[in-house]
This record gives sequence, C-alpha cells and structure tokens, in this order.
Amino acid sequence: FNVPTPVNEPVKSYAPGSPERKELQAMLAELRSKQIDVPMCIGSEEVRTGKTRPMSPPHDHKHILGHFHEGDASHVEQAINAALGAKEAWENLEWEQRAAIFLKAADLLAGPYRAKINAATMLGQSKNAFQAEIDSACEFIDFLRFNVKYMTEIYAQQPPVSGNGVWNRVEQRPLEGFVFALTPFNFTAIAGNLPTSAAMMGNTIVWKPAYTQIYSANVLMEVFKEAGVPDGVINLVYVDGPTAGDVIFKHPDFAGIHFTGSTGVFQHIWKTIGENIKLYKSYPRIVGETGGKDFVLAHKSADAKAVAVGLVRGAFEYQGQKCSAASRAYIPSNLWEDVKKYMLEDLASMKMGGTEDFTNFINAVIDEKAFDKISNYITQAKSAPGVEVIAGGNFDKSKGYFIEPTVLLVQDPMYTTMCEEIFGPVLTIYVYNAEHFETVLELVDQTSPYALTGAVFSQDRYAIELATQKLRNAAGNFYINDKPTGAVVGQQPFGGARASGTNDKAGSMINLLRWVSPRTIKETF
Ligand code: NAD
Repeated sequence: FNVPTPVNEPVKSYAPGSPERKELQAMLAELRSKQIDVPMCIGSEEVRTGKTRPMSPPHDHKHILGHFHEGDASHVEQAINAALGAKEAWENLEWEQRAAIFLKAADLLAGPYRAKINAATMLGQSKNAFQAEIDSACEFIDFLRFNVKYMTEIYAQQPPVSGNGVWNRVEQRPLEGFVFALTPFNFTAIAGNLPTSAAMMGNTIVWKPAYTQIYSANVLMEVFKEAGVPDGVINLVYVDGPTAGDVIFKHPDFAGIHFTGSTGVFQHIWKTIGENIKLYKSYPRIVGETGGKDFVLAHKSADAKAVAVGLVRGAFEYQGQKCSAASRAYIPSNLWEDVKKYMLEDLASMKMGGTEDFTNFINAVIDEKAFDKISNYITQAKSAPGVEVIAGGNFDKSKGYFIEPTVLLVQDPMYTTMCEEIFGPVLTIYVYNAEHFETVLELVDQTSPYALTGAVFSQDRYAIELATQKLRNAAGNFYINDKPTGAVVGQQPFGGARASGTNDKAGSMINLLRWVSPRTIKETF
C-alpha cells in the first residue's frame, strides 16, 4: 500500500516581516472589506433560502463579514436524500481514489488555501494567527494525511486464517445509511475532521456545523469541492441543532453520528437515539467527544516556572475555549508564591484585542451567550466567601466579547468553578498542604464528572508514578511536565472518557474503525 508516510505539517511562525504574515494580513484585509453570501451545499446545489443571518467577528461584533442562508427541516431531508443518492458510487470507488481526494485537500490547505482558512478562522472564531495556524491549517492537514495512512492500514489488515479448500476474508464495508457530522465552533480542524474521516471510509455525510463556525466551514467546503469530493458525499446544512436532530434521528437510514460538542447535548442525542432505536435498520454508531474540566496538578518537587507557564498557556490560549484547557489547578503550598509571581508576570505581558493585530494574545470569546455565561461565573466568584480574584476579573462586550484572563484562588476545592465546565478564560486554583499529595490525588479524581485531559508536574519519579496510577481514569490524555493542551495528530491521539466522550481518539485507527461494518466471507472450493 503505497501512500506517503505522513509527517506533521510544520507550523509557520508568522514572524514580523515574514512572507506568510504579509500574505495573511492581505487576506484578512480582503475578507474584512467585503460581505459574502453563504449558501448551503446539498448535492450539486448551492441552496439559498433567502432567510439570512449575519456573521461577525466576535471581537468586532458590529462588523458584518457576510450572511449565511438558514435552512429548515426540508433541507435536512434534502441533504439526507443527496447523501443516500451519492452513496453507491462513493463506496464503490477504489479506496485509492478516495485517498487521493483527501490528500489533495490537505495539499490545498497547506498551500493555496492556507491564508484563507487561517484568516477565516481568525475573523469568524476570534483566534489569533498562531492559534488559527495550529488548528485550521496544521491540525486539519494532519488529520487528513494521517487518517489516509490509518485507512490504508485498515484495508491492509491480515485476513483471518484459511485452510485447505477454504478462503476466509473480511470486507470493511461502509455503514449502511448516512452519517451525521455534528460539529462545534472551537476548532476548524474538528469541524473538518468529523465529516471527512467518516467519508474517507466510504460513507456519505450530512454535516451541520455550529452557526459560529460557518464562516470557516464555507472555506472548508470550497476546498473539498476543489479537491474532488463528489456532489452529495458531504452535504453542508445550516439548520439549528434541534431541527436537524428531529429529522436525522427519526430516519431509518441514520447509520451513525460523529459528534464533538458539549456533554449535555450529546447525552440528549444519545437518549433520543435510544428512544428511536426500533426505527433504524442498524444500531447507529455513536461517537462523541464532549466536555472537559481539565486539571493541572503540581507536586512539591515541581519546577515553579514550568508550572506557571503550563497554567497560563494551558488555561488562556484561545480564551480557554479548548476542550482540553486547564481550568482547575492544585498547587502545593511550598510552590504557590513562586507560581503566582511567574503567572502574574506572564499575564501582565499579554495584550487583549482583535485578531487583526498580531500582538494580541487574548482575543474575544465566541458570542454573547458565552460571554454572559462566563462573566456570570466571575461576578458570582467576586462576592463568594473564600474566593479571591488574583488576576483579571473584568469584562466588556461593547465592541467585542472580551473577558480578561481571570485567576481565582479558592479555599474550598469543591467550589463551583473547580467542578463545572466554564469554557472560557477562567482558571481556578486550590493551594494544598505540600505534604498531602496522596489526598489531593483523590480530590483530582473525584471532583468533576469529566475525564478529558490532565497534567502532573513533578521532578520526583515516585510522585509521577503514583499520579499516573491513581489518575488512570481521570484523563484520556495525560501529560507529565507539560500543559494539558496541544495534542498533535499522529503523536498524541486525542479523546476522553467518563462525561468527556466515547474516547474513540480523533485522528486514529480506532476512530476510523467506527465508520466501517466488517463483513466476513467464507468461500469453499
Ligand atoms: P455545543 O454542544 O453547543 O454544539 C455542538 C453542535 O451541536 C453544534 O453544531 C450545535 O448547533 C449542535 N447542537 C446544539 N444543541 C443541539 C441539539 N439539541 N440537537 C442537535 N444538535 C445540537 O458545543 P459548542 O459550544 O459548539 O462547543 C463547545 C463544547 O464542545 C465544549 O463543551 C467542549 O468541551 C466541547 N469540545 C470537546 C472536544 C473533545 O475533543 N472532547 C473538542 C472540542 C470541543
């Protein structure tokens, strides 16, 4: 199986004066200067309903980047029919042809579309240039290239044993029906990966992105078309979640959902699928990566500076809107003063503002609903007994949805912000007696229902070993002496268990295997 061995796409620096920075700045200016009209893409059609909604940068919400056409239940039906209509030709296409299409998509993103997808993510989702580069360019390119490699490994798997007069073999069939890709706002790479990974294995897709990611989803669709994804293989609809769900989850050909988003929505979907189970031809595949309440735990032997850097980067990159973001920390009393000093120094150097100014590290949170939810947690914390705001705490939505990186120090390790997913730039810290590491391990494990990512910082091998064992089920991605964010495709397969998901590891063979249904064939001679 002769596919290229993937290497991770190198991250461009966008240093001042670099050609990539100039190109990106020109693209940002071009996109800001016009208003685009964004149709849905169903089968071979661009569907314009005339019912439009505006798209704006979260950091400049009065500026209009364009409008998208909102659909209703009939468009979801139309998308399902288009997916079912395209299915036979797509699944019968040689897998090499499917691989070629997605490898071409990766190359388009790495080259001619890099500035456009990054600029769209910077404007539409308020990511700074570096955060956009590691998401919409590098991570998505890696998903495509590594998944093609895993796909070939699946098709190349050793057949079962055969004997004299018998030939046994296994055929990796696509699922019978269509797959629903339901995607979140916070990673363009995830929005792209959920439909493409299932499509790669021969499935056809109905894709519904979050409304706040449509501006960059539209660019992804442009890339898919140019790469040669046939009409009807990926159908992009702009319909609100419950309306889409009402049609999809009642359809007999619903074969699986590839979801990333919040835990509550996923649990609701799972329940709905359960209630409708008799309607379907097959038991649908349910793959979901959901919420997190990710921890950083320092041992008394840890390097205070490394802990502080890990906390600031882990908690505040992309305004804390990564499912893997550090949001609760356990710091031993002997290190606290140093960790605090380094953190405050680091935070003081961080500027907040729009993504067009490349010196801004902190940008806006995604929309007004998120702003209100996050700022409400901060307002409550300000007057809560035993809670001290040691950094940030201010917010303002007059121009954009800006919230300062906020650090809370709590006396009660079970205070609300230690337990609930906030999904914003709020880090809560609990300082523990440096001699009570083992007790704290229990606390880390039991505080939240989530188990996505977590980090332990220590120079003591025994403490590392103990934490690794005792926190076995507390994180699907566990980091030793590093921040809990920034998983790289092909290096750290990503996903969590407990309330954080089905842990089918995005960008892995485990994930791709969910999109096939093997048939065993025995032939006798
Ligand atoms: P969300 O759950 O609000 O939305 C996800 C998608 O579901 C969107 O397309 C939305 O429109 C749709 N949706 C919402 N309600 C629905 C309903 N009732 N029926 C059908 N569809 C519905 O999530 P979000 O705000 O876009 O993303 C943030 C969440 O995603 C956080 O909880 C974060 O932790 C999680 N996340 C997890 C991972 C991971 O790998 N575990 C990665 C990224 C994001």
